Amino acid sequence: MSVDEATTAQARILEAMQAVRDRGESARRAGRDPVNLPTIRTWQEALEDDDPRYERDGTAPPAMIQVWTMAGLPGQRPGVTRSTDDPLGAAMSIMDRAGFTSVVATNCTQTYHRYLRVGEEVSVSTTLEDVVGPKRTALGEGWFVTVKNTWFVGDEPVAEMLFRVLKFRPPEPEPEPAPAPAAESGGSVIPPVISRDTAFFWEGTAARELRIQRCEDCGALRHPPGPLCTACGSASRGYVVAAGTGAVHSYVVHHHPPVPGRTPPYVVALVDLAEGVRILGEVVDAGPDLGVGTAVELVWHDTGDVVLPAWKQVVT
Ligand code: ZN
Repeated sequence: MSVDEATTAQARILEAMQAVRDRGESARRAGRDPVNLPTIRTWQEALEDDDPRYERDGTAPPAMIQVWTMAGLPGQRPGVTRSTDDPLGAAMSIMDRAGFTSVVATNCTQTYHRYLRVGEEVSVSTTLEDVVGPKRTALGEGWFVTVKNTWFVGDEPVAEMLFRVLKFRPPEPEPEPAPAPAAESGGSVIPPVISRDTAFFWEGTAARELRIQRCEDCGALRHPPGPLCTACGSASRGYVVAAGTGAVHSYVVHHHPPVPGRTPPYVVALVDLAEGVRILGEVVDAGPDLGVGTAVELVWHDTGDVVLPAWKQVVT
């Protein structure tokens, strides 16, 4: 959309919204039932509000105000119809048509002028108060729409509510990841994330060294690499080069989901190194006799982008 088109679209939204606002207050919509004790009890139980004064005095908790005029699900509640001049519904439709199809409530401010009493008949009207946008938000581009409800008993206003929603354009859905190629030759493996903590490890594999991080203060070995020694807390670190022998501590045979650069099924093992730390890696050409405790030795898998340590069974 060009700048001119966007400006026109915004002007059209504001114009349509102004028309809704100019209609002013919607017709008052009556509640289905008068203020009543069973509904008050149910609401109090649901909110774990055990204040005895409402039942004793025959008054309703003020925060229940919306309850008395709930429209219900359209068509599912006989005797209650949605008003056709509802400004909130009209504003939502305008936004939907402009592509701002998602909604999230952002603010709700209620004002109570007095307690409602059991037996009172309540009605409500709505006005469109305010439209602000378009705004960039964490959810996407959108408009803030504020409506005002006023509740009446007879002609006496008893409560008000300012209700603001953000109507926003949902972000484009993420594209589905491409399925893994069936052939071993196709595709490349997902490259490892290389950080300051792990750079030495990947420099090691490039040099065909399996490096294990070592605390330079207490000598403890650790894997995967990290900034601090888990034994003594020191940040002083170096490494040793592993001999490249170990035993399977645990393993899985991976069938699904597809992984780029891999042809399932393949075996991934957690290997106990002779040095006393564990490391994950693929076991290449695993035989049917592979199991926990199987002796393995280090092999290198050069993907072209990165050199990965892998394992193969020691032939005995
Ligand atoms: Zn240490």
